[in-house]
Amino acid sequence: MSKENLRFDTIKIRGGYNSKEHNHSVSVPIYETAAFDLGSTERAGKLFSFSELGFIYSRLSNPTVEVLEKRVAALDGAAGDIALSSGMAAITYTLLNVAEDGGRILTTPYLYGGTLDGFKKLYPKFGIKIDKFEDFNNPEALAKQIKPDTKAIFVESISNPNAAVADIEKIAKVAHEYDIPLIVDNTLATPYLLNPIKYGADIVIYSATKALNGHGNVIAGIILESGKFNWENGKFPQFLEPYYTLRDPEGRARNFIEVFPDFPFITRIRLNYLNYFGAALSPFDAYLVLLGLETLSERIEKQLSNTKKIISYLQESDNVQWIKYPSLNDSPYKELSKKYLPKGAGSVFSFGLKGTDDEIDKFLNSIKLFSYHANIGDSRSLIVNSPKTTHSELTPEEKEFSHIESNTIRLSIGLEDAEDLIWDLEQAFEKTFSEQLQEVLK
Ligand SMILES: *Cc1c(COP(=O)(O)O)cnc(C)c1O
Repeated sequence: MSKENLRFDTIKIRGGYNSKEHNHSVSVPIYETAAFDLGSTERAGKLFSFSELGFIYSRLSNPTVEVLEKRVAALDGAAGDIALSSGMAAITYTLLNVAEDGGRILTTPYLYGGTLDGFKKLYPKFGIKIDKFEDFNNPEALAKQIKPDTKAIFVESISNPNAAVADIEKIAKVAHEYDIPLIVDNTLATPYLLNPIKYGADIVIYSATKALNGHGNVIAGIILESGKFNWENGKFPQFLEPYYTLRDPEGRARNFIEVFPDFPFITRIRLNYLNYFGAALSPFDAYLVLLGLETLSERIEKQLSNTKKIISYLQESDNVQWIKYPSLNDSPYKELSKKYLPKGAGSVFSFGLKGTDDEIDKFLNSIKLFSYHANIGDSRSLIVNSPKTTHSELTPEEKEFSHIESNTIRLSIGLEDAEDLIWDLEQAFEKTFSEQLQEVLK
């Protein structure tokens, strides 16, 4: 076996790092430096003409951040990777890079609240139009939504908070028939549960804030590029624009595809969007994500096992109206979850509390162990009333379109003992409904 085909659990601990290049340091060093010495005028000339790749300034690239980039790229089978200071920066830079100059993005109503709201408020101001289509897993219907200026399809592999599963293979096929890339936000699945590139995705995005890091202590984002999409197909002139900054030794301006043929997409983000919009990931935060990554599989497995137990408990509860989790028998995504998520459908899901708004408030205020806040993928279990918090930006009509019911409670299951988590839900249900009963009897 060669180093090139190491398996997932080895890559998550050792990928992208050679201690010999870092004073034999066993742990990845934190390169807390703004800039790097250029060495000599000759070397400076090479660095600035990209004939030698090296570090110049930490806004553009940094050795600690680069280990994270290489490691996640290897985990997902990507050709290139760029790490940024948030998941939102990863989404924004990706969509600007693909649709700048007035393009259109075709997406679904099943998205993270911040993404949905950004699409509504900000993207149109940058000239980017967003089309939301509900029946996205139906290839014929989806194809009809593609317009001449549609530049990409964007989906979440498992959506937040509704846990809708995207049929990536079919959607990628439609996208490629129209010469546009499929972009997948794979945050909820993580590379451990699903590798979208294997099914034809061209760009994969992570909010590394969530399960990749897994300890609720950083904000970070990642963009991966499969290296397979043909950016020269006539729809993306921005990749063929000659830049003086990319000139060859004779001073001839070149484009991104000439200089970085293996990963032109993320390099264009690095040299344009990261360089000038500046959402750089700090070396310290990259280090924390690397630390979290080392236990990714172990954490996800434990979270899956906890999730199973908690769902079984909720299924038996009289206080629960519905549960949305892709692999359940009554889920419309059961077959897709079998195909795309054979190891398990993640640890973020939602349920409907059978009760009034006041009872939902009482239930949340009675919770003792779950943390009540807006994050997911943490080692701690989290509970939140999505319609009033993480998705509160949506108007009542938008919530209906996105199928976010008013009694939605979202859980993100952590690493505690499942019995304690169940005890917490049980005591909160009891407090909410038994006291109500006493009121009635009075
Ligand atoms: C949290 C989240 C984001 C945004 O990531 P940040 O790191 O918070 O900027 C994007 N997509 C999904 C699915 C998320 O859960």
